[in-house]
Amino acid sequence: MPGFKSSHSAHPRFDFLIVGAGFSGLVFAERVCNVLGKSCLVVDKRPHIGGNCYDVIDPSGVLIHKYGPHYFRTDSRRVLDYLSEFTEWIPANYVIKSYTDAKYWSFPISLNTFEELVGRKATPEEFQQWLDERKVPIAQPRNSEEMVLSQVGHELYEKFFKRYTLKQWKQHPRELDASVCGRIPVRTDRDARYLREKFQSMPKEGYTRLFETMVAACGNRLHLEPECDFAHVPNSVRYDRLVYTGPIDAYFGECYGPLPYRSLRFEPEPFTGEDLHRLRRPTAPLGFWQPYVQVNYPNSEDFTRIVEIKHVTQQKTPNTTIVREYPADYTPGALPYYPIPTKANEELYQKYRQLAEAEKNTLFLGRLAMYRYYNMDQVVAAALERFDKWCGQPG
Ligand code: FAD
Ligand code: UDP
Repeated sequence: MPGFKSSHSAHPRFDFLIVGAGFSGLVFAERVCNVLGKSCLVVDKRPHIGGNCYDVIDPSGVLIHKYGPHYFRTDSRRVLDYLSEFTEWIPANYVIKSYTDAKYWSFPISLNTFEELVGRKATPEEFQQWLDERKVPIAQPRNSEEMVLSQVGHELYEKFFKRYTLKQWKQHPRELDASVCGRIPVRTDRDARYLREKFQSMPKEGYTRLFETMVAACGNRLHLEPECDFAHVPNSVRYDRLVYTGPIDAYFGECYGPLPYRSLRFEPEPFTGEDLHRLRRPTAPLGFWQPYVQVNYPNSEDFTRIVEIKHVTQQKTPNTTIVREYPADYTPGALPYYPIPTKANEELYQKYRQLAEAEKNTLFLGRLAMYRYYNMDQVVAAALERFDKWCGQPG
């Protein structure tokens, strides 16, 4: 069983123990080392750094996002300035389509989608009027179904959201918090970008390189222990403070019962340049399998989306890899990719949070420990803010 392999010393001592080498854990570790000049041990169950943002060159030489597509975006100057110390950026155009009724649709819903629906040119005013006639008047949407109905009405809800959401979460949209489908913008102009934020880019040499640079900047104050579960850190390892970024319910031995998570299964399929030539897929540009970085399948197939990340990494290679993403139950051996934002789960999380607050010298941080459907920039912002507060730094 993987465990603590370090031969650091018989009684290793650190200022901080950090559980998890994802964005949350590594940002916190970097601040501890470089602002406080203190030492930390970072352990992670997985054999690599980066958590779910890890990217890697696959056997056909293509850079892939091992745990699903990661589109960096932010409106936070602080997060951008901070991460820019560790990476340069390449501007990214995240254009995503939805495939249903045997054709590609512009998605998120915009004037382009409306024109595809009515089969002719239209104006923003005309589309707005069409929406106004169909929107269900709900002032304060209480769940994801109400959220979508209040924005676009029944027809577009059924076409793009209802079955995709059921497939992804195994929950009806009316059970899920309004913020889940509320993540997807609705526009009456032609802006085709998937995301709302002003800054949308990819780390120039990938996420793993960004994390490696961050770790290197810490020098020997940071000690990394991959393939090491928190539960297997020996008692002889001493530390003053703990930062925990794993699932909060696991930390407390699931004493109030398990918090639900949704898992995923990724099915990669590689293609050489020759394969692509032979297949002659008419809509894909040269060197690609599909025309867009991501195609969602709301109404057919067991997978939710096919991602071809080469479209945004802009890697120069004749080969490509597509990844089909299948939603899955969180069973033993599966990874807890998504907290499930429902009312009941939030209530259960609040019970764990109360325990967490009473835990001495321990900070709970990140998507799993805070049980929040956070994007990368949000966990980086949270790590920076919590560091300032907890370590007495002026924010
Ligand atoms: P994680 O990355 O999950 O890291 C936690 C780490 O803790 C893991 O490496 C885990 O192995 C380790 N760990 C847990 N328990 C233990 C233990 N007991 N002992 C040792 N180690 C432990 N965000 C975006 O901004 N844009 C996107 O496009 C985007 N796409 C996403 C797509 C998918 C499929 C998923 C699942 C997430 C996506 N995200 C995206 C969100 C992004 O992945 C998270 O915001 C980010 O990874 C959270 O970082 P974290 O450090 O909090 O958690
Ligand atoms: N969603 C949908 N249809 C789509 C895309 C998204 O119904 O074509 C809903 C679904 O519930 C999904 C949520 O919107 O979980 C957020 O989508 P996003 O693409 O942001 O999901 P993520 O990349 O975080 O998995």
